[in-house]
Amino acid sequence: MSYITQFASLLCAGTMMLTSSLEAVAPQRDITGSLFLVSRAYRVSEDYVPPLVQADVSGSLRSMRPEAAAALEDMFAACKEEAGVTLVTVSGYRSYSKQKNIYNNKLKSVGSEEKADEYVARPGASEHQLGMAMDVGQRNSSAGLTSSFANTRGGEWIAENCWRFGFILRYQEGWEDITGYNYEPWHVRYVGPEHAKAMYEADVPMETYMEELREQVMIDLLALK
Ligand SMILES: [Zn+2]
Repeated sequence: MSYITQFASLLCAGTMMLTSSLEAVAPQRDITGSLFLVSRAYRVSEDYVPPLVQADVSGSLRSMRPEAAAALEDMFAACKEEAGVTLVTVSGYRSYSKQKNIYNNKLKSVGSEEKADEYVARPGASEHQLGMAMDVGQRNSSAGLTSSFANTRGGEWIAENCWRFGFILRYQEGWEDITGYNYEPWHVRYVGPEHAKAMYEADVPMETYMEELREQVMIDLLALK
């Protein structure tokens, strides 16, 4: 029954996501659980701020939700031990207003919303506002926040192992039409170990996974009657 309760809100969320345009979607306020979906179509409200702590690792902008920060610490330690690589944080939690600045700066430099949208999330449409996303780099590497991070030792290790710590590589190659974002091998999203493992094994984006989950919840609800 807790399973049903946990995902009940997703039923509404999914309906909204599938039927609404970017402008028509009401911002989200009740953000609980680690499986919360944020995308271009499904945004977080301007005033949402998660509980935050500083992850005890090297790097900049290390704020995350406590459970995500703890998992990140474990993951970085394991990468050091198993691959001999020191990972660093580049950017974790970002507020709505910070994202707004980033978007507006991009808009100025590229000249059109269409172009800016290719690179940067609009305010409220970034997972970083949830405190469950981190952009990861490798110490002493010039591949930070570029697709070549995927070919670094740390980048390869992350792709193969982040699920063990409850993270997923959120924006993978070939998923652009579903996620709405370009390939970002450096961006990990915390969803908890159970869902991370399931998504890694199924090799599907979070959007697809949640759609399937919602269908299962519907089936379970009908079966209860
Ligand atoms: Zn990111």
